Amino acid sequence: MVKLPHIQERVRLLPYTTMKVGGSADYFLVVKDTESVKEACDWAANAGVSVFVLGEGSNLVVSEGPIHRLVLKMEIMGFAKLHETSTHVTWRVGAGEHWDGVVERSVKLGLTGIEAMSMIPGTMGAAPVQNAGAYGQEIADTMVELEAYDLATQQFVTLKRSECDFGYRNSTFKTDNAGRYVITHVTIKLSKVKPKRPTYESLKRWLDEHKIDDPSVEQIREGVMAVRARILPDPSVVPNSGSFFKSPIVSAAKLAEIEKKFDRVPSYRYGNEYKIAAGWIVEQCGFKGVERFGLKVWDNHALVITNPNSATYNDLRKLVEEIVTAAKEKFGLELEPEPLFLS
Ligand SMILES: Cc1cc2nc3c(=O)[nH]c(=O)nc-3n(C[C@H](O)[C@H](O)[C@H](O)COP(=O)(O)OP(=O)(O)OC[C@H]3O[C@@H](n4cnc5c(N)ncnc54)[C@H](O)[C@@H]3O)c2cc1C
Repeated sequence: MVKLPHIQERVRLLPYTTMKVGGSADYFLVVKDTESVKEACDWAANAGVSVFVLGEGSNLVVSEGPIHRLVLKMEIMGFAKLHETSTHVTWRVGAGEHWDGVVERSVKLGLTGIEAMSMIPGTMGAAPVQNAGAYGQEIADTMVELEAYDLATQQFVTLKRSECDFGYRNSTFKTDNAGRYVITHVTIKLSKVKPKRPTYESLKRWLDEHKIDDPSVEQIREGVMAVRARILPDPSVVPNSGSFFKSPIVSAAKLAEIEKKFDRVPSYRYGNEYKIAAGWIVEQCGFKGVERFGLKVWDNHALVITNPNSATYNDLRKLVEEIVTAAKEKFGLELEPEPLFLS
């Protein structure tokens, strides 16, 4: 088999993830432009190897391996202003751009739309995959379209927002079309109109504490960063992959059933249903601060599983199973992991 230039073999993926678990991929290639994406995908198709796209590995749990794949490390960079009116600016952003760099840039220009998503780790290209979101904003609100290489048709395509089937931490890229697209560019539309005062409780409290009634985008970013720093461990210090479970979405009847048994159930309306905070569920099951198999459920936020002692993928699976079983027994709810498990 003819090898692609710059392709590496048997590359350990652990250093490329924030959870710091996982074995080696058979093939690994850094891609910096669309031509190399096409070349690499054609090579993989001919070699019968499946392709996996890696951003900054902040929503990824890698098994012990070996991972029989070509891992494409996405490093397509660049910003282009496509359009500007008196109220909006439209940018086309390379999928490899660091997400918080995109947010910082927009906030410095006084633009609204993604400021509440400050400090989310990862790349621009991964944001649509799980419809990344925080404090009342999600990428689905600002994304216009994205460009991707379609591994099924071996062609570049443009997908409109309406084609991405966005939901809560979900999209077509995690469901019907999981693994089908290599996202290369994302187009977002940001507003020049002053933001509304955020209604998210912890952020509202920070603004109240700082006596800010009518916050600017800079002040919202500052507030989000302060609140996040208080509750979330920095993955460059303590390995973790952020919120480990999605908040379950339940009917009004199921919520009422739980509220009969438990006080102050933290729930939020989600369409015609309700989200129950997954962190509260994990805490009620007694896991907050618990250390198990070398892992630790974070003291300040029970939704975050940290890996301070170099635990393995199998250790993590055991702890996850314990938590899922406990939630099922106590609440009759199925906790679903938020990160992708790669094997
Ligand atoms: C401390 C911490 C806090 C976090 N807080 C939040 C939060 O508030 N809100 C939130 O939504 N998430 C949060 N996350 C999760 C994570 O940061 C986001 O999901 C982020 O968008 C993942 O980006 P990434 O580049 O690291 O993706 P990866 O982890 O590298 O990949 C995640 C998935 O996306 C796919 N993917 C990545 N890039 C591409 C591409 N270019 N084309 C196609 N598929 C691709 C991968 O194949 C994989 O399936 C947090 C994580 C941590 C560690």
